[in-house]
Amino acid sequence: MTDQNAAPTNFIRQLIDRDLAEGRQTGVVTRFPPEPNGYLHIGHAKSICLNFGLARDYQGQCNLRFDDTNPEKESEEYVDAITRDVSWLGFEWAGEIRYASSYFDQIHDCAVELINKGLAYVDELNAEQMREYRGTLKEPGKPSPFRDRSVAENLEMFGKMRAGQIDEGAAVLRAKIDMASPNMNMRDPVLYRVRKVHHHQTGDKWCIYPMYDFTHPISDALEGVTHSLCTLEFEAHRPLYDWVIEHCTLPAVPKQTEFARLNLNYTVTSKRKLKQLVDEGHVSGWDDPRMPTIAGLRRRGYTPASLRKFCDMVGVARADSTVDMAMLESAIRDDLNQNAPRAFCVLRPLKVVIENWDADKVEILNGPVHPQNDDMGTRPIPMTREVWIDREDFLEEANKKYKRLVLGDEVRLRYGYVIRANKVIRDASGEISEIRCSYDPDTLGKNPEGRKVRGVIHWVSASRNGACEVRQYDRLFTEANPDKVEEGKTFLDTINPQSLTVFADAVVEESLAGASVGQGFQFEREGYYAVDPDSSAGKLVFNLTVGLRESF
Ligand code: ATP
Ligand code: MG
Repeated sequence: MTDQNAAPTNFIRQLIDRDLAEGRQTGVVTRFPPEPNGYLHIGHAKSICLNFGLARDYQGQCNLRFDDTNPEKESEEYVDAITRDVSWLGFEWAGEIRYASSYFDQIHDCAVELINKGLAYVDELNAEQMREYRGTLKEPGKPSPFRDRSVAENLEMFGKMRAGQIDEGAAVLRAKIDMASPNMNMRDPVLYRVRKVHHHQTGDKWCIYPMYDFTHPISDALEGVTHSLCTLEFEAHRPLYDWVIEHCTLPAVPKQTEFARLNLNYTVTSKRKLKQLVDEGHVSGWDDPRMPTIAGLRRRGYTPASLRKFCDMVGVARADSTVDMAMLESAIRDDLNQNAPRAFCVLRPLKVVIENWDADKVEILNGPVHPQNDDMGTRPIPMTREVWIDREDFLEEANKKYKRLVLGDEVRLRYGYVIRANKVIRDASGEISEIRCSYDPDTLGKNPEGRKVRGVIHWVSASRNGACEVRQYDRLFTEANPDKVEEGKTFLDTINPQSLTVFADAVVEESLAGASVGQGFQFEREGYYAVDPDSSAGKLVFNLTVGLRESF
């Protein structure tokens, strides 16, 4: 039975409830099985929340297991990144981190068992021949000439593969199932191949590596996994999963159940494509804030709670669908709207000189840290003779609809005084470099009598502030489905050339000077921002997390 904090029900929870009620299982053991060949992305977050969420709600356990059977493509860097991301999302795996590679001995024993039962054979067809013999969806395959080798010969050949006496590609171990099966996965799938490469966990112990479809069911069974949840593309592999469980001597009988992948529009969620973006320099790295990776989203300012919330909102179903990016954005916006401290940041500073304010006078004004939450306290905002306002908050002429500063008219500096623009000063190129203003001392916390102020703008003292760089992001792709492009083009052709805009000379209010990496703020009237690890003592760097409201 699930507890009250549990995620909403779904077909997998219903299946588990039935398994428990009817006595097929006595508990719930799940696993999250990433291959360490890239960083985790938002799609993986769905799988993580599902697997760890079930273990939590059914008082079971969820294992973190690296599915590391392709040493050429894997690395310790990815192992570390994945481990960090799962922890950061707020989940704890049961016991030690597990590796499929630590089961290589048992998997090898299963292979020998299958050979002994006449259910596996060493095939020496080359890759091209094997493809030919395999047949097509319309035509059955035909048996390899090596299919009926004796058990003794198979054992000897497999021993040679293992001993390094067979070249890569010269032989493979195949299951002996059914070359005429309508399911191509059952036409004598490969179980082991020769790969003379170093493995990040097992070093040079092995020169043969088991295939994913053979490794996965055995690893699940060895760990006592009850419910092995994977994405829909593995549905057609389930008969093979069950075949392996049936014919190998194993301590448990796990069941595979498939659910729909998470697809998000305006992005790609394939590790291969994400790796290409990194390798070809289209982004600054796996954790570039424009990437849909967990590391990128973290750097962008997403919180673990917002990603978990998003995964709950998406739910778990069997039908494939594409989720709108706006849903992800609204999950973090809701979180930050409630929790992020407010601050002033001027992205495009334009100097305002208040001529009737004494040159060395500093008045400390107070702003709320959060306008809807008094418990968060107030923030000191120093007011001085010179302040910065945003270039986009001033016009020499404008109609009544313009709620900002206009020459000859008044505006309020938020949490401060009302100022009037009297004169503009231009630089040699003719651009406005300064606005000369005056302030009304009688307008702190109250409106001037008999005059209407146009609006309220944010600002930062010119002498008491923090220098910062603000990185403004837009979607990385211009197309809703970057994977679906016209002939001759690829997803790379849909990269948005304007996905990053840098405001290198922005200024942030003084109270943020000590902000630490990862902290999130609402810059009033601008959006939500988080401190980037590129920040240095003298200069903070902020990433736009999400705008104040939905912009598409
Ligand atoms: P990719 O297709 O991006 O290369 P993968 O499936 O090869 O990903 P794995 O490391 O094998 O990546 O994935 C680990 C687990 O995460 C698997 O159980 C897989 O089904 C699940 N997973 C991967 N992508 C998604 C997704 N988009 N939505 C939900 N679950 C996913
Ligand atoms: Mg995979």
